[in-house]
Amino acid sequence: MKVTMINATKDFLKSISAIQKSSWGQELDLDTTEEEGKVILMQILKGEMFGGTALESIKFTFAVEGVSLTCTHQLVRARIGVGFGQCSFRDNDVTNFHYIIPESIKGVPDLEKRYCALIEQSRVVYYKMIKECIPYQDARFACLCGIGTNIIVTINYQALLNLCQNRLCNSCQWEINELCRNIREKIRQDYDEILADFLRPRCDYIGRCINKSTVFPCCGKFNCKEVERTTFGTEQNANMKWLEQDKKSYEEWRQKYYGKQ
Ligand SMILES: Cc1cc2nc3c(=O)[nH]c(=O)nc-3n(C[C@H](O)[C@H](O)[C@H](O)COP(=O)(O)OP(=O)(O)OC[C@H]3O[C@@H](n4cnc5c(N)ncnc54)[C@H](O)[C@@H]3O)c2cc1C
Repeated sequence: MKVTMINATKDFLKSISAIQKSSWGQELDLDTTEEEGKVILMQILKGEMFGGTALESIKFTFAVEGVSLTCTHQLVRARIGVGFGQCSFRDNDVTNFHYIIPESIKGVPDLEKRYCALIEQSRVVYYKMIKECIPYQDARFACLCGIGTNIIVTINYQALLNLCQNRLCNSCQWEINELCRNIREKIRQDYDEILADFLRPRCDYIGRCINKSTVFPCCGKFNCKEVERTTFGTEQNANMKWLEQDKKSYEEWRQKYYGKQ
């Protein structure tokens, strides 16, 4: 998977300040300093001030390469403050597709081989259809969910907070979880550390787990209930590798921005 930030709002602190100060003042107030902008941003992020509209003024565009159709199928369920452009299987011959092998399948005797063989078999069927002039849009029915795709995501920061609250949960499907982690790291490296720090799973905000699934139960980060990891939490599950790191980063985050609780 490769995530590239191809565009982002310039001078976002200026728009945040202008929106907030003008919303509460009688006149437009466009004078601001970086320090003032940071104070206002922190107040919004910590929930000490209304500010959803101001957060919507920060927009990003990311190019995402090499994720599965399974991943993008979940990603495009986000509806508000987000737009997508996905490479078309309707207008193109995708015979040379690559495919994703989940960690849980890698190295499992027989299964990894069977999975790869099945995908290669689907490639053969797809190719034969193309050769027999079946339209691309129909030949794609032979493609499996594991095949690779690319997508461009445009999203504002308010929507990204929501996406990350939903998808940074350790019990989410590993690929979209990893995609959100990669987006967060891009923002940290190339844009702004504070904005990255506040992209967190919902549990970090509310201090408990709300996941009621018995198949993919609570990861145990908040020890909110007996963790039964028989189906979800074996070493095969790629998400578990994040758990210790997440506990540590949660404690550091709370300490840094909210003080000890
Ligand atoms: C762990 C997990 C498992 C999931 N499993 C399933 C599943 O099994 N089956 C399935 O179908 N989906 C599933 N989903 C998808 C999920 O139900 C949501 O559709 C998806 O995550 C989009 O989330 P959202 O509504 O928060 O985001 P958005 O659609 O971007 O919405 C953002 C916010 O705006 C609000 N909003 C959106 N539209 C309106 C509107 N018209 N009026 C008022 N408010 C609006 C939303 O309520 C939300 O608060 C799953 C999601 C997760 C995270």
